[in-house]
Amino acid sequence: DLPVHIDPGTRGSGDEVSKSVVHDMNNLLAVIDGGLRLLEHQNDADARKTIFTRLRGAIEKGAILTRRLLDHGSPARRCYAGTTQAQLSIAVEALRPSLSRDTVMEIEIESDLWPVKADPDELYFALLNLCRNADAATRKGGLIVISAANVAERPDGYGGMVAITVGDNGSGMTEEVMGRVFEPYFTTKEVGVGTGLGLAQVRAFVERQGGWIQLQSELGVGTAVQLIFPRLPDEESAAPVREPNGDDSFS
Ligand code: ADP
Repeated sequence: DLPVHIDPGTRGSGDEVSKSVVHDMNNLLAVIDGGLRLLEHQNDADARKTIFTRLRGAIEKGAILTRRLLDHGSPARRCYAGTTQAQLSIAVEALRPSLSRDTVMEIEIESDLWPVKADPDELYFALLNLCRNADAATRKGGLIVISAANVAERPDGYGGMVAITVGDNGSGMTEEVMGRVFEPYFTTKEVGVGTGLGLAQVRAFVERQGGWIQLQSELGVGTAVQLIFPRLPDEESAAPVREPNGDDSFS
């Protein structure tokens, strides 16, 4: 694992923080619900064990969300400086139960992926948002492809980046919708289903890391949302930062 560092905190208003937590918690409940449904129809002992592990992981992530609420107002919080290839693979696997039963998910993560400058749990919630959108946009036989690849350093000295993409073969978007998806509270979903906060939240997260988000979509063909993160600089991977009060409970 990569070292933990102190995030000075991205402080929204209390209202913004609680809305984003509620949004992520709803997505997490979908993961838990999906896991329980899989468990109901699974008799194979090994497969059941895997589902149990994922369910436990989802519950731990719920604790991270309540922590996010409680942390609000505290001066700083611990988080990982970056996400390794192995951590990303685990996070992506843990997304599976959030999808409908008929949706197929393919994962293509480059084996020598650079560490991504983002906290693994925050990355998980961002990808969960994108997967739930992709799942909602596809019908029976939907395909979601999650890929992660290094983006080469450019000759002009531009640092290496890592691109993580969630692609689907769903409904796609009209140009009008594409132009508005990052607006907070913009949704085309029914009241009570969509909050319109997902993509706004994901964009804010990527930009906080010094990256950016790209959207490609074609009506009737599908959508790809790409998150471009800076590569974690080697010196940061090498130099662990210690928690000032020595509290190791949040690891
Ligand atoms: P919500 O999912 O709550 O509506 P988002 O900000 O995540 O909020 O998404 C805003 C809107 O963008 C959605 O209501 C939908 O119209 C559109 N959208 C997002 N992702 C996709 C996708 N993968 N395919 C088609 N439309 C999408």
